[in-house]
Amino acid sequence: MAKRKRKPIVAVVGRPNVGKSTLFNALAGQRISIVQDTPGITRDRIYADVTWLDKVFTLIDTGGIEPDSRDVILAQMRAQAEIAIETADVILFLVDVKQGLVDSDAKVADMLRRSRKPVVLVVNKVDSFEKYMTDVYEFYNLGIGDPHPISAVNRLGLGDMLEDVVSHFQESGEEEEEDERPRVAIVGKPNVGKSSLINKLLGEERLIVSDIAGTTRDAVDTEIAYKGKEYVFIDTAGLRRKNKIKEELEKYMIVRAVGAVERADIVVLVIDAVEGVSEQDAKIAGIAHERGKAVIIAVNKWDAVEKDDRTIYQVTEKVRNVLSYMPYAEIIFISALTGQRLNKLFDLIDMVSENHAMRVATGVLNEIMTEAVALQQPPADKGKRLRLYYITQVAVKPPTFVIFVNDKELMHFSYTRYIENQIRETFGFRGTPLRFIIRERN
Ligand code: GDP
Ligand code: GDP
Repeated sequence: MAKRKRKPIVAVVGRPNVGKSTLFNALAGQRISIVQDTPGITRDRIYADVTWLDKVFTLIDTGGIEPDSRDVILAQMRAQAEIAIETADVILFLVDVKQGLVDSDAKVADMLRRSRKPVVLVVNKVDSFEKYMTDVYEFYNLGIGDPHPISAVNRLGLGDMLEDVVSHFQESGEEEEEDERPRVAIVGKPNVGKSSLINKLLGEERLIVSDIAGTTRDAVDTEIAYKGKEYVFIDTAGLRRKNKIKEELEKYMIVRAVGAVERADIVVLVIDAVEGVSEQDAKIAGIAHERGKAVIIAVNKWDAVEKDDRTIYQVTEKVRNVLSYMPYAEIIFISALTGQRLNKLFDLIDMVSENHAMRVATGVLNEIMTEAVALQQPPADKGKRLRLYYITQVAVKPPTFVIFVNDKELMHFSYTRYIENQIRETFGFRGTPLRFIIRERN
């Protein structure tokens, strides 16, 4: 069995004005908006993928999470630290050499130390190592290890800092144990019925295998067997805990969703049928889309909707409209209250999970592409016509294809979409996004 790999999560914690967003932007760079066609999620970005040498990790700026404007700084920091401890594999604790060591830093350091999560202590605004180095030593007093001097603005010291960050990945479980069971994240806004759904799935005839506390994190995964097959459900961390209030904060909700989605292959996005689909749902869905996960949209509370024979089509159309960037997503109408269609939900999970991992032989792919090109002439520009030479699938989860062409510039998005549709016409790939990489070859 193959080992599961997932991207580690690194959370940046620190007081206001120490330079968290400056550091975030320096590390995430232009990679922040990789997916242009996902509305709503490239703004107010608080997470991004960072590549350092051969490592990739997800960076979260907890500073974007401001619990309450009336809150004092310490309360804010505590909340940040809690989120970081809950979600991150490594915590990057940022302090400011110009402000020096302050009391709230010490208190947060205590919290982080108790969490036993790897913490990298980073001292920012060390714009000149000669001038400020003696001030950096003061931070040894926090008792959480060696302080790394950096200047986020001048991009100084970032390499050494990142080296320390990535050195914690192995021990914190970048590779989880061998496991081929479908891993399903249940995500959605507060009050859409996520916990009701998990509880309903846990109840009834289905056998509860166990509650396994994650070895590397606080999240609790739920194993559920259905028709003799095991599934792992990944709650948005803290789902079944009482501290729901915090989830009301949109950014907190998003951070949790990122954490859960990252650990799953299949995402069930729960939407409230009574309230209808919203921009917030689109933001959460965008996380799954960007990360190439299989997606099922579960329209919940279907029992509470007054309906006639057209309602299901109207709601479907509305959902398709708001989530127009994921036409591949499956939609199911359920009730966590009555249990309606929960059996079908398992069938859907099986189907999209297979599609997400499906491999298509190169020969067949090239037949489809040749036929597609014959049916619809590729675009041309300034007398040069696009030529498609060869297509092959290079990865699964999600299925990823490389197409070799004569000139990348000529391969418009719409023609790629056309090829995608031809492939989908033959193989379906329902529930999973497909990715295309365009390469030039002469
Ligand atoms: P945040 O509130 O922690 O996200 O802090 P910001 O990233 O918004 O930075 C707060 C202020 O500190 C801004 O005016 C930044 O330009 C400044 N700043 C950030 N990094 C550095 C640095 O390395 N050196 C100096 N001198 N200023 C910095
Ligand atoms: P969460 O915040 O997403 O975990 O949502 P909860 O599971 O706590 O549910 C929020 C509210 O919606 C609770 O009052 C539930 O009883 C109610 N609820 C959840 N699922 C359904 C459903 O399928 N039908 C109806 N009518 N109410 C539901």
